[in-house]
Amino acid sequence: MEKYFLKSKETVLEEFNVSQGTGLSTNQVESSISKHGYNELLETKKDSLIKVFFDQFKDLSVIILIIAALISMFMKNVESTIVIFAVLILNAILGTVQHVKAEKSLDALKSLSSPKAKVLRNGEKIEIVSRDVAVGDILLLEAGDFVTADARIIENYSLSVNESSLTGEAENVLKTSDDISNENIPLGDQKNMVFSGTLVTYGRATAVVCATGMNTEIGKIASLLNTAKEKKTPLQVSLDDFGKKLAIGVILVCILVFFLTVYRGSTLIDSLMFAVALAVAAIPEALSSIVTIVLALGTQKMAKQNAIIRNLKAVEGLGSVSIICSDKTGTLTQNKMTVKGAYVNDTMLSIEEININNHSEKFLIDSSVLCNDSESEGGKEIGDPTEVALVNLAQTLNLKTKDIRDAFPRIAEIPFDSDRKLMSTLNKIDNKHLLLTKGAVDVMLPKMKSIHIEGEVLDFTSEHREKVEEANKSFSENGLRVLAFGYKEMSSSTDISTNDEKDFIFLGLVSMIDPPRVESKMAVSDCKTAGIKAIMITGDHKITASAIAREIGILEDGDEAIDGIELDSMSDEELKNRIRNISVYARVSPEHKIRIVKAFQELGEIVAMTGDGVNDAPALKQADIGISMGITGTEVAKDASSMILTDDNFATIIKSVANGRNIYTNIQNAIKFLLSGNTAGIFAVLYASLAMLPTPFAPVHLLFINLLTDSLPAVAIGLEKPKNDLLKQKPRKSNESILTKPIIKAIAVEGFIIAVCTIIAYYIGSKSGDKHVASTMAFSTLCLARLFHGFNCRWTKSLFKIGFFSNKYTWYAFIVGSALLAIVLSVPPFMRIFETVALTGEQAGYMLLLAFIPTIIIQTYKVIVNDRK
Ligand code: ATP
Repeated sequence: MEKYFLKSKETVLEEFNVSQGTGLSTNQVESSISKHGYNELLETKKDSLIKVFFDQFKDLSVIILIIAALISMFMKNVESTIVIFAVLILNAILGTVQHVKAEKSLDALKSLSSPKAKVLRNGEKIEIVSRDVAVGDILLLEAGDFVTADARIIENYSLSVNESSLTGEAENVLKTSDDISNENIPLGDQKNMVFSGTLVTYGRATAVVCATGMNTEIGKIASLLNTAKEKKTPLQVSLDDFGKKLAIGVILVCILVFFLTVYRGSTLIDSLMFAVALAVAAIPEALSSIVTIVLALGTQKMAKQNAIIRNLKAVEGLGSVSIICSDKTGTLTQNKMTVKGAYVNDTMLSIEEININNHSEKFLIDSSVLCNDSESEGGKEIGDPTEVALVNLAQTLNLKTKDIRDAFPRIAEIPFDSDRKLMSTLNKIDNKHLLLTKGAVDVMLPKMKSIHIEGEVLDFTSEHREKVEEANKSFSENGLRVLAFGYKEMSSSTDISTNDEKDFIFLGLVSMIDPPRVESKMAVSDCKTAGIKAIMITGDHKITASAIAREIGILEDGDEAIDGIELDSMSDEELKNRIRNISVYARVSPEHKIRIVKAFQELGEIVAMTGDGVNDAPALKQADIGISMGITGTEVAKDASSMILTDDNFATIIKSVANGRNIYTNIQNAIKFLLSGNTAGIFAVLYASLAMLPTPFAPVHLLFINLLTDSLPAVAIGLEKPKNDLLKQKPRKSNESILTKPIIKAIAVEGFIIAVCTIIAYYIGSKSGDKHVASTMAFSTLCLARLFHGFNCRWTKSLFKIGFFSNKYTWYAFIVGSALLAIVLSVPPFMRIFETVALTGEQAGYMLLLAFIPTIIIQTYKVIVNDRK
């Protein structure tokens, strides 16, 4: 690649034929992309379809089935062998399709959260996805952005970049737009360049894109990077583990049953058939696919409801969240700031009272427009809402912001950051260089030396200070955000640093309102019923924050509100003792957030934490569920989070908690359904072996149920809608196994009831003297009973409580499953393959009745016991 760091900015701009003020034109973008390609790194190849297909056969349960097929062949039961292989192949095809689908939906989720870039094109500032960044684009960078391409800096305001992903150097690099002449320097020293994949931690800059995609520095080493594979969630891991243990247990029991039956005088072949039937009955072939399908469908639904899951783990985690720490501005409030009043010349003023002919008042308004990066024109607002409010104020007073900014040009700036809580600009005003600073009142006040009153500069006496503090208090108590303004004259130097932010002349205060979101109050009360503590963490003033928190319901009588300084003075032990009482943390820096998360985690709580700024990333990572803001969040925060709120709304978090709990419960119910059905099969086979009966099922019978008819209700149960009760329960313990004691009990009892009915059906069938009729009766009763059982596993309450038709999928599953069963019981070619014989009307009647009895028993129990809870 050419060494762009050696070229002057003018040369680079000329080379790409682009102007710094307008950026590329649409035509230039098209031709650049057709020449250099899209800005993307070629990922390491995904597994081929063939490999995915054959991977499906690696499962221990499949191997057991293959052995069963071979045994059937050995017994000259070729049809059975063919069916087992056909089922296995079908299963592998379904597994492959599902793998591809799950991958696609994950890719879709990923692209929803892929990094964006701000560029200047056709004279306009626009946001595009990083893939569309073209060579020659004018890139606009600010704190919190990911650098999406390699670019030469042409305008620089204290840009600081973390390049550790590229150079391994943890320290931030301070950038420049100056020329560099030393040719042989490493990347880390090419300070007039920014590189793709690094992140802006401070300041802002404009740069021309010189390389994209695989031509960037990171692209050159991309072959070394392995795109991280989607990891399995803890639930999937523990189910895989459960599956393995189950398979081993099944093999051991099968061997035992085999020897037992041989010992009791059965033929070798019959004993073998018992062992095989037992193995097939016990292995829940569809279990892991069902979990994946339900998780994938659940996350798709959540994305539609404004919550993009970046990490499947979060879906399960959401169900056990016990603390939600939320930012105030924009998440609990609307982030629509409107100026309500001012304090200037020792007087509180409403907007209507501001007089732009008064020197001090006009100076305050000018400063608020000059020390400000936002724009607001014709309803289009760009920038920080706090600053937009100030621009809107000037416009309400019939002042033109452009005129003010042209008259008093900016020479330098120190951007706002939430640690300093200040922003400064150096402007040329009446031939003087004035440093204009605005920021949090409590940070500004100690820095005041004098006060500007009616055009005069006087000493800032304690009397003045008290009056300012009083004004600040009275604004804050009404939930208003207050900014203080100060200025000072600088020598003619153009360089300013944070060391200059002191010894100011006090100019005035401006107060603004940011009303709470309408949904916040309801969402906070939902949190309470759901056993979740909602906490406000904000950079705003304690009094302002408390007023808003009280209005929303976060701060209640007996709760504490503390600020960053008080937090600093507390030991970890003290914090842990008091933390459950503290509902509001005001004037905190992002670093405090980590301390709060850790303290809660040490007390065993599961913490969800919101964040948007670049400094929030560590806290988002530390939290169990890091939540970033889709609209106002920086790319860095999004990258560190496990969930993105596309509407920045607190209410969406509690909705996601409900969804997370629902998905988990649905998976739990689906597992209960599958395992209780399997248990019924196991009991029936074991009973037959102990009672010296022939095996009640052929392997194809059990495969038909486990893989086909049982999968349908399992998915339908996974799609059950959230119930109101969900938010009335306490959070689930994070270390609780999905197979809780009550679930294991239900699996055993319900499985037992179905098994008893199956065995009775078997006996009724064997009265005919034909063992095929007996096994057809057993198979069809087990199959249909399990289809009915799908309705029982929807929820703990009875169908009368939850509604017979409130989940239409359970009906589709039942109808399709029953139709499939009817086909294998009555269409001759299928009857041959599935080893069934025709039943008489009476036998069919018994079969229907026996299949229905478990559901009657289970529903009656639910009506009597569960519905009353
Ligand atoms: P959160 O989003 O955490 O609830 P916040 O948005 O109120 O909090 P910050 O943006 O960190 O928190 O702001 C902290 C304080 O800094 C504000 O209370 C205000 O006094 C001051 N402040 C905010 N924005 C600006 C700005 N653009 N320029 C100067 N000062 C600002």
